[in-house]
Amino acid sequence: MVVTLSSAASAPSVATIAAAIEHQRQFFATGQTRSLPDRRQQLLKLQAAIDRQGETLIQAVSQDLGKPYFEACISEISAIRMDLAHTLKNLKTWAKPKPAAPTLAQFPAQAWIQPEPLGVVLIIGPWNYPLSLVLQPLIGAIAAGNCAILKPSEIAPASSAAIAALIQETFDPGWVTVMEGGVETSQALLAHPFDHLFFTGGTAVGKVVMAAAAAHLTPVTLELGGKSPCIVEKDVDLEIAARRITWGKFFNAGQTCIAPDYLLVQEEIAEPLKQRIVAMIQQFYGDNPQVSPDYGRIVSDRHFQRLQKLLKGGRILAGGQSDADDRYIAPTVMDGVTWADEIMQEEIFGPILPILTYSKLEEAIAQVNAHPKPLALYFFGRNFQQQQQVLHQTSSGGVCLNDTIVHLGTPELPFGGVGPSGIGAYHGKASFDTFSHNKSVLRRFFDLEPPLRYAPYSNLKLRLLKFFLS
Ligand code: NAD
Repeated sequence: MVVTLSSAASAPSVATIAAAIEHQRQFFATGQTRSLPDRRQQLLKLQAAIDRQGETLIQAVSQDLGKPYFEACISEISAIRMDLAHTLKNLKTWAKPKPAAPTLAQFPAQAWIQPEPLGVVLIIGPWNYPLSLVLQPLIGAIAAGNCAILKPSEIAPASSAAIAALIQETFDPGWVTVMEGGVETSQALLAHPFDHLFFTGGTAVGKVVMAAAAAHLTPVTLELGGKSPCIVEKDVDLEIAARRITWGKFFNAGQTCIAPDYLLVQEEIAEPLKQRIVAMIQQFYGDNPQVSPDYGRIVSDRHFQRLQKLLKGGRILAGGQSDADDRYIAPTVMDGVTWADEIMQEEIFGPILPILTYSKLEEAIAQVNAHPKPLALYFFGRNFQQQQQVLHQTSSGGVCLNDTIVHLGTPELPFGGVGPSGIGAYHGKASFDTFSHNKSVLRRFFDLEPPLRYAPYSNLKLRLLKFFLS
């Protein structure tokens, strides 16, 4: 049963927002965030706060999304802790200046690339993983030496409030602060010239954010969505493939940006795979998933209604039941779906799995390539040549071979989209780089002063310089 939510915090006024940003600008100017030991200390404080408040945070996401305890632990708390541990371990190395070779014509000189913080950054989050999708970018922002304002999603109000409380008791608001609220708060924030905007959300809002950023030439990271395909070839272990697909699709009731949106299955194994997926749903969630403690809920009435409409096209093989009062939609498998159906026109972002078939892998690849570049692409198949074919002939933010969604959990792998599924990436070092400016530095000395580049120019000087520059 979805617990009734307490009302969302009142939105900050335009003046409050302006004052918070100004305060952070002044704090940044003190230079404190540039100190590596101080950055480490902030990360350690965040780590301690997450450890201390883990249960409260999990309760909040459970209240917002009916998220099962197990799923909240691994996808929210553990994801944040893992990124924190990885960052704390590597921060010193990432922050070091990296030597670069000067040219002969610059001799004597030294060159290096020096990461520096950007300044005051804004992080806007979505509701589906309301904690990790705000706090993981924050890890990178702090690690790189920035001040940050966080705007969690108003659609997950309990999580938003939990983040605000955690940040307030952990950080000086000059370093990190939270502005709760909805679209108006977001837009009031976007009117200011931040040094970086980090946005996670839908493609349509991503365009709004990018347009607002353009007014100030503010660089953006856009973590967006899209329809992530899952291609299944005939040489797979059907049982394992069905298990991994079912888990990735129905985790968080399908409200995962990298959930396999739809299946493209080689026609010879389509029937046995469908049967196994249907059986797997029963194995995972029992005869009535509505009473399973391991199955989540749809976040809001609006999204519930949106998904209801999508249930209308295609043939429902399994599931299809729903309960508006509980915002429950059963794990649903659909076949007989075509690209003309409504469900194939937009990102599903819910527990409905349409299954399409193909005969030759080239056809499946062509279908994927006929649509916008997705955030994730899944290929199940043992054949190395086919794996290479998929990797080389398609484009997506990331690829996971023979599994779903777990590639997200590797801090060493940058996470982000390509084209309409996103701009930029984060996690681990990619987060540090996202929130840093790589400053190029060339240091010269006063010992040698060859007159080659100075006027009056001559053919001899030109020949010599050309030689040194070649
Ligand atoms: P959304 O775009 O509706 O909202 C995201 C944030 O933007 C919220 O904080 C919201 O308050 C704010 N916002 C909404 N409308 C706005 C406007 N007009 N102007 C300024 N700000 C506005 O996204 P959502 O519904 O919270 O999340 C679902 C989408 O996010 C899906 O498309 C999903 O694929 C995507 N997503 C992507 C990732 C990723 O890592 N790439 C992760 C999670 C979700």
